[in-house]
Amino acid sequence: MNIGILGLGLIGGSLGFDLRSQGHHVLGVSRRESTCQKAIALGSVDEASVNISLLAAAEVVFICTPLALIVPQVEQLIDHLPTNTVVTDVGSVKAPIVKAISPLWNHFIGGHPMAGTADSGIEAAQRDLFVGKPYVLTPEATTPTSAITVVEEIVRSLGANIYHCQPEQHDRAVSWISHLPVMISAALISACINETDADVLQLAQKLASSGFRDTSRVGGGNPELGVMMARYNRQALLNSLQQYRHNLDELINLIEQENWSTLEHKLQATQQARSNFVPDLYRNPV
Ligand code: NAP
Repeated sequence: MNIGILGLGLIGGSLGFDLRSQGHHVLGVSRRESTCQKAIALGSVDEASVNISLLAAAEVVFICTPLALIVPQVEQLIDHLPTNTVVTDVGSVKAPIVKAISPLWNHFIGGHPMAGTADSGIEAAQRDLFVGKPYVLTPEATTPTSAITVVEEIVRSLGANIYHCQPEQHDRAVSWISHLPVMISAALISACINETDADVLQLAQKLASSGFRDTSRVGGGNPELGVMMARYNRQALLNSLQQYRHNLDELINLIEQENWSTLEHKLQATQQARSNFVPDLYRNPV
């Protein structure tokens, strides 16, 4: 199959590796000529160009640009495509994208692979990035079954686990488990660097170990991606942050009141609840 990828970065480049290894012919389009050349040299795509018309020959196109460019790029792309070309995107927020693109292109299905790293760009692309990871698809009632099937087959072949849901449900769910953690983790790092005693701050930096590495990881990631999450999933993220602030206030009150038994109950409840979010960690503890 001829498969197009628009935006050859971490996600687009990684998709290219896996699709090529399955024998698909991968056509890549990116903004910079140097990225196109790198993608060919690394083996992520068969052909690459800065000219979007290269994708006219693709049967399926994955849109893998930064979030803000997905809709404008699709608007440009569809002038070059036959009407039955299937278009899907990988954006981390779904409702505004699906709402804007669905009326423009009947064979469109929103998607979001729940896989990534803190790095970006074609150099960060890696093989098997999606293996064992959730991959959300948000088909509409009007999405042709043939378009859903073809995207599902490709996603399954990446080794990912498919979930279907409404775009709005997706955005609320990822707000809890992806976008809220980025903001909390950023706030944690920010709070630590507010330590006013330079000696204490330096000591804390020297003592930081696995706990801080885990809790600061997503707050120390790509700032552009964090801003995009906040801009495009603003309401869901604000709701999650307000609920989080409420929980933080509860903890502050319990500690101020030295209410150790209630604090312990609360921590017992969170210890139990965690396994529902990350069951693999409990089956294979590391
Ligand atoms: P990325 O590594 O920065 O890659 C995006 C690529 O898009 C850049 O390398 C850039 O290539 C290219 N690009 C920028 N403007 C373009 C344009 N006008 N036309 C064509 N290509 C353009 O970002 P990413 O992490 O792969 O994220 C891409 C998408 O995946 C986003 O929508 C994000 O929401 C979604 N996503 C990200 C993650 C994650 O963890 N990173 C996970 C799941 C989904 P040049 O080098 O040519 O400028």
